[in-house]
Amino acid sequence: MNAFATQIISSDGMFYFGRLKNMIIPAVDGELGILPGHEEMIIALTEGILRYQDTKDVWHKAAIGRGTIQFANNRCTIVVDTAEKPEDIDVHRAEDAKARAEEKLQHKLSDREYRLLQMSLARALTRLKLLDKD
Ligand code: ATP
Repeated sequence: MNAFATQIISSDGMFYFGRLKNMIIPAVDGELGILPGHEEMIIALTEGILRYQDTKDVWHKAAIGRGTIQFANNRCTIVVDTAEKPEDIDVHRAEDAKARAEEKLQHKLSDREYRLLQMSLARALTRLKLLDKD
């Protein structure tokens, strides 16, 4: 067993479908490595960078939004709000989103508005981090 079946589903559709040898996920309490034969689990994912190694030993990375990962019977299913490859990220859009969130966070906000803006800022920062522009 040197790989595990993986599907990564975002709101836009199937982001990745295939076999992987290794994966590093942004879990809520830090990064977590996933190898073939991992124990069963369902945990929450937070905004961050997902890294995954395919069966040709090529590492890939993606910016992901919040979601969950399930691992069972050597199969991994990730469901996230958003997922983007570096080449699909519009840097200006992410910079605008970051500036907009930072500006709005200066004002008096309800708890809900504050949480939504923090999430928006985290998505923008993750996208910029993936491009090394944070
Ligand atoms: P914005 O305020 O710029 O819309 P957002 O964080 O609110 O950013 P999301 O709701 O996370 O956007 O994503 C909506 C859709 O747009 C998703 O398909 C996501 O992959 C895509 N998307 C968001 N920001 C970018 C970006 N900077 N580059 C490429 N795709 C993006």
